[in-house]
Amino acid sequence: MLGAIEAGGTKFVCAVGDEKGNIEERIQIPTTVPAETMPKVVEFFNKYSVKAIGIGSFGPIDVNMDSHSYGNITSTPKTAWKDYPFVQALKEAFSVPIGFNTDVNAAALGEATFGAAKGLDSCLYITVGTGIGAGAIVQGKLLQGLSHPEMGHILVRRHPNDEFQGKCPYHHDCLEGLAAGPAIEARWGAKGNQLVDRVEVWDMEGYYIAQALMQYILILSPKKIILGGGVMNQKQVFISVYKYLQEFLNEYVVLPELADYIVSPGLGDNAGITGSLMLAHQAFQEEN
Ligand code: ADP
Ligand code: ZN
Repeated sequence: MLGAIEAGGTKFVCAVGDEKGNIEERIQIPTTVPAETMPKVVEFFNKYSVKAIGIGSFGPIDVNMDSHSYGNITSTPKTAWKDYPFVQALKEAFSVPIGFNTDVNAAALGEATFGAAKGLDSCLYITVGTGIGAGAIVQGKLLQGLSHPEMGHILVRRHPNDEFQGKCPYHHDCLEGLAAGPAIEARWGAKGNQLVDRVEVWDMEGYYIAQALMQYILILSPKKIILGGGVMNQKQVFISVYKYLQEFLNEYVVLPELADYIVSPGLGDNAGITGSLMLAHQAFQEEN
């Protein structure tokens, strides 16, 4: 049996399951402060005998195994979790291999193994929710360099009608600052799910996401692009993304039919937790 944690900014999902992606039991724990959240995580896994645990975490996190702060959450705006030694804390509670990566990398892995990109050796998973982040599988492996990618914070060209200053605490009008859920709410004065009929909202959203996709496509050439996260529940954004992407790329690269190429997660809301199970499986295999 394997353990998995999808550590999000508002909730932790903990689950046990197997390497085929089957989930046997799961719970949700609110993300408050480590001293409150983590004992509940430990209590859950104490009920099972897991042979490894995989974590897909909000970030940024330190995924460089040679670093002294490997396994820590690093510069998160959630101050209680800043510099929290996530892997070390779990290692102390359970002496099993721990896999550690970003929430979006876990979701990319889940989708590439069992979801919309099953059988492909390359894909991109992007979430548009409270933040924007992406994980990439390249040549069968999660893309990692100095650290994990942070594709949500790229710079984009402004929509001619957009005067919103942007909401990213680091860069103001980066992609996340202009197009994540909180930016939509701040710009238009209501949450996304209350703006369903406002055509201009979703047109502008697609304008920004399409620019990001163009850059990801030109740099990584993924075989499939999966768009998840709360904002992508607005299916009209896909239509806007297809329209602008076609316009921006101007037939420079040959792509599959966009409706087959840029899709919703095949695993739905389970992409992250399923991918975290895969991180556990990988960690187990690496240590044995
Ligand atoms: P998180 O990123 O925290 O894991 P979500 O992916 O659900 O969570 O993203 C939350 C954001 O998505 C919020 O800003 C919320 O307003 C927005 N959102 C959630 N559901 C919808 C919806 N149906 N339509 C538009 N926006 C939505
Ligand atoms: Zn930013």
